[in-house]
Amino acid sequence: MKTFSCRNIQFLLYEVLNAESLTQFENFNAHDRETFDMTLDTATEISEKIMLANYMDSDRKQPELENGHVKVHEGVHAFIKAYAESGLLAATFPLEWEGQQLPKTVNAAVEYICMCGHNSFIMFTDLAVGCSNLILNFGTDEQKRQFIPHLLSGKWGGTMCLTEPQAGSSLSDISTMATPQADGTYKINGQKIFISAGDQDYAENIIHLVLARIKGAPKGTKGISLFIVPKMALAPPLGAGGLNDVASIGIFHKMGQKATPALHLGFGENNECVGYLLGEAHKGLPQMFQIMNGARLGVGLTGISIASAAYYASLQYAHERTQGRRLNAKNAQNEPTAILNHPDVRRMLLTQKAVVEGALAFIFQCYDYMDLLKVSETIEDKTKYDALLELLTPVAKTYGAEMGIVSVNQGLQVLGGYGYTEDFPLEQMARDVRIMSIYEGTTGIQSQALLGRQVTRNNGLGLKLWREEVQKEVTEATNYELFTPYCNALTNALQRFEVVTNHLLGIAGQGDAEVFMADATLYMEFFGILNVAWQWLRMGQVAQKALLTQNVSEDDRVFYESKIQTMQFFYKYELSKIHYLADCLLNTEVLTVVGEREIII
Ligand SMILES: Cc1cc2nc3c(=O)[nH]c(=O)nc-3n(C[C@H](O)[C@H](O)[C@H](O)COP(=O)(O)OP(=O)(O)OC[C@H]3O[C@@H](n4cnc5c(N)ncnc54)[C@H](O)[C@@H]3O)c2cc1C
Repeated sequence: MKTFSCRNIQFLLYEVLNAESLTQFENFNAHDRETFDMTLDTATEISEKIMLANYMDSDRKQPELENGHVKVHEGVHAFIKAYAESGLLAATFPLEWEGQQLPKTVNAAVEYICMCGHNSFIMFTDLAVGCSNLILNFGTDEQKRQFIPHLLSGKWGGTMCLTEPQAGSSLSDISTMATPQADGTYKINGQKIFISAGDQDYAENIIHLVLARIKGAPKGTKGISLFIVPKMALAPPLGAGGLNDVASIGIFHKMGQKATPALHLGFGENNECVGYLLGEAHKGLPQMFQIMNGARLGVGLTGISIASAAYYASLQYAHERTQGRRLNAKNAQNEPTAILNHPDVRRMLLTQKAVVEGALAFIFQCYDYMDLLKVSETIEDKTKYDALLELLTPVAKTYGAEMGIVSVNQGLQVLGGYGYTEDFPLEQMARDVRIMSIYEGTTGIQSQALLGRQVTRNNGLGLKLWREEVQKEVTEATNYELFTPYCNALTNALQRFEVVTNHLLGIAGQGDAEVFMADATLYMEFFGILNVAWQWLRMGQVAQKALLTQNVSEDDRVFYESKIQTMQFFYKYELSKIHYLADCLLNTEVLTVVGEREIII
C-alpha cells in the first residue's frame, strides 16, 4: 500500500529547497545527496516492513495496565530496535553523541516517511529525541554522559510530563512539588496525566522530564522548574527492585494512536521519588518550550503524514470502485464508471492532494529555516531565521493538524460506507489524526500565541521578514504569464491580511484583550492558508521552469503538470476562503465575549 510519494520528497528536498546546498556548511559537510538518499531508503524500509505492517494490529491490541505495568505491542519493540540500530534515532545529533549531524530538513523527510507507515510508533522515538535534546541543551556534563547515550541507543525511553489534572492549557497552575534535599537532589511529589509512553516494557529505564515547582517558588509560570526523574533509581536500591517511586496509576483508553499508551502517573506516593534539576531553577517552562517548538512542527507533520497515507488509500479506492455513470453519459447501457471520474470525488481527492503536498512544503520550509538558523554566521541571519521560525511554528502545527483532519475526512468520504468500517484503514486514520489539534497546545492556544505574541514580537519583525519571503516568490512568478492570476490573487490576499492585522491590533490598542483575541483561531486559519498558497506558488513555478527549460521524461512531465494543476486547484478552492475569513474578522459585532450583554449558549 502506497502511503507517500518518493518523487514528491525528492522534488521538495532537491528542487524546491535545494537541501544539498546545506552540505557546504561545516556542520553538515559529512553529507551529500548520496547519504541523504541512503537515509531516506532506510526510513522507507522501516516504514513499510515494520511500521505499516503493524499499523492495524497494534490499534486492535491496545496496551493495558496490568499489575502496575504496561506491555506495548511487539511491533513497537521491533521498530525501536530497527530505528536505533539503523542510526535514525540519533541522526540529527552531533558526531560526539554517535549522531550523524543530519540536517533537520532531511530528517523531517525521514519522519514523514515513517509516520506515513505508523504515526503512533514514532512517538516513542520522538520522545527519546526530545529528552536528549533538552539534556544536551541544559544538562550538566555528567547528566549528558549519564542519559544521552542510553536514550539515543533505544535502551531507555523518555517522556515529557507537563499536564496535570487541573493544569492542561494553563501550565502556570502546575502544582507538582520539588523539595530540595541536602545532597542536591529533590524529592518530587505530584500527579501527571495523559503522559505518552509513560510506561512500557521495551526499555530498561524511562526518563521522565517533569515540570514541578520548587518549594517556596513564586506562583505562575516563573516558578516552574524542570527535573529529570528516572523510573528506575540511578543509585539503587531505592525502592523495591530499584524503583524510583513513580507509579502507573491508570491508563487512558483513547480514541486513536492506541499503540502509544497515555498514562496517569503518580510521583512520590511513598515520598521516595528522586529528581535531578535540569538547567536553571525557575526556568523550566522557557527551557521546555525551546524544545517544544520542534515538537510542534512534528505534530503538524504527523497530521499531514496521516493525511498522506489517507490520500493514497482513497486514491487507490477511487480507481478501483465503479459506481454510476458520468453525468454526460447517463445511459444505463454504459458500463459503470470509476468514481474517480465524478467531479465531486475528484474535488475531494484534489483537496487532499493540495493540502498534503502544500502543507508538507510549508513544514519542510520551517525545518529548512531551522537548519539555516543552526549554521547562521551573522547576528542578522540568526535574528532572521529565529523570527521566521517563532512566527511560523504555531501556524505549521495548526495547519497540519486542522487540515490533516479535514483531509483525512475527505479521504474517508471517498470510500463511502466502506470508509466507515474496519475493513479499510481510513476510520483508524480519522481517529488517529484527531488528537493533532489538541496536544502540544490546542488550536485555540496556538492561535492566541500567534496573534497575541508572535505577530507583534520584536516590533513585527517576523511578519515583515515573512512578507519579504512571500514577495520574492510573487516577483519570481510574474516571469511566467500563466501565473499572473495567481500572483494577483496572492497579492490581494496579502493586502487583506494586512488590513485585518491592523484592524485587530487597533482593537488590542483599546485594551480589550478578550475582544482582540476572540477570533484568533480564524486569524490563524487565514494565515495558514496564505502560507500554503505561498508554497504552492513556489512549487508551481519550479515545475513550470522545469517544463520550459529541461528535456523532461514522460513521468516527470506528468508530475510537473500535476503540480501546476494542484496549485490552480488550491487557489480556486482554498485561497478563496480568505475572503470569508477577512469579512468575519473585520466585522465588529461582538457575539462571543462574556460581557454586559447576556450571551445565551
Ligand atoms: C493522547 C494524548 C497524549 C498526550 N500526551 C501528553 C504528554 O506526553 N505529556 C503531557 O504533558 N501532556 C500530554 N497530553 C496532554 C495535552 O497536552 C493536553 O490535553 C492539552 O494541552 C490540552 O489540555 P486539557 O486537555 O487540559 O484541555 P483544557 O486546557 O481544559 O482545554 C479545553 C478547551 O478549552 C480551550 N481553552 C483552554 N484554555 C483556554 C484559554 N485560556 N483561552 C481560550 N481557550 C482555552 C482549549 O483550547 C480547549 O478547546 C496528551 C493528551 C492526549 C489526549
